[in-house]
Amino acid sequence: MYRKKNFFAGPSVMPVEVLEQLRDQIVDYQGQGLSMIEASHRGGMFEDMYDECLGLFRELLGIPEEYDVYFLGGGATLQFAMIPMNFLRPGSVADYIKSGTWSNKATDDAQKIGDVHLYFDGTDSKFTTLPDPKTVHPSKNSSYLYLCSNETIHGVEWQSFPDTGDVPLIADMSSDILSRPVPVEKFDMIYGGVQKNLGPAGATFIIMKKSLLEKRNENLPAYLNYQLHAKEKGLYNTPPVFSIWAVKLVLEWIKRNGGAAGMQKRAVEKSSIIYDTIDGSGGFYRSPVDPAYRSRMNIPFRLSSDELEKKFLSEASALDMLGLKGHRSVGGIRASVYNALPVEDVRALADFMKGFQKRNG
Ligand SMILES: *Cc1c(COP(=O)(O)O)cnc(C)c1O
Repeated sequence: MYRKKNFFAGPSVMPVEVLEQLRDQIVDYQGQGLSMIEASHRGGMFEDMYDECLGLFRELLGIPEEYDVYFLGGGATLQFAMIPMNFLRPGSVADYIKSGTWSNKATDDAQKIGDVHLYFDGTDSKFTTLPDPKTVHPSKNSSYLYLCSNETIHGVEWQSFPDTGDVPLIADMSSDILSRPVPVEKFDMIYGGVQKNLGPAGATFIIMKKSLLEKRNENLPAYLNYQLHAKEKGLYNTPPVFSIWAVKLVLEWIKRNGGAAGMQKRAVEKSSIIYDTIDGSGGFYRSPVDPAYRSRMNIPFRLSSDELEKKFLSEASALDMLGLKGHRSVGGIRASVYNALPVEDVRALADFMKGFQKRNG
């Protein structure tokens, strides 16, 4: 089977084995005479699969007992509003670290709900760097400190995380979840859309320390209330069944391939191939990102002119390398090298980059 080389930022590449499993099981799930996507979410067939999925997620990330884990709809974007609605207490502030497009959107929503303290604003650096985690201390009277572990568009990624003491730490990990082990105990909430590293779009994972719920605001509409979702394990209303089923298969694939540590090894290997090519190009390719915070998942880079970048993209797409155009807000090139992207595809991109430089340098 021929597969294009998929560098899309999201939705993004899936493990081919998982696509084949979905194909093979979509009509008749494990010989039960029924498809998973036809079954009631209140029935055993779905519930058994869902429990397995949540169990695997806990196992792979080492999520302690005192955390709830479940999936919701609405994308990561719905969480931008739900977090301040639930946890930004009147009379207090929430600390936000604005490090790129995604944390910026979260900040905008929070500002509509309550008082936001912009702890860090990367606007002036064009979102190419982060604060040193050792120097990050939340405000007095802070409801929580919010960060995005990997800015998918700008390509900056936290390599370690701040200690926020008693102040809850909340993180959007949409685009680097399960690409490395994470010290879950440091966080009160971790969430993200699944469509970057975990499966097809639809589901949003929520990992939340149970004690965080004790500090929540009251009187929220049902779907916006985490307390209700925690109680129902995400099954208050119909969950995104197909997406969750596919996530379960991707989690099994991650487990077979060395778990979070195995994914970290792959991520370091693949991203190094591209960064080494950029750094070894004598300035032909330029990474705008502070080397201390370079993302292992999304690698933006520039060439010397818009024209040359256009030529690069059109030659790459003729070689079936997809999704390399940088986000419209920043321009340039971006290679997303998520968990499921084969290392051979990354080598092919690096070879193309070297050849393109020879022909145009
Ligand atoms: C893609 C992305 C989002 C938005 O996810 P949706 O599921 O489309 O709402 C939020 N945060 C980060 C870091 C992302 O990469």
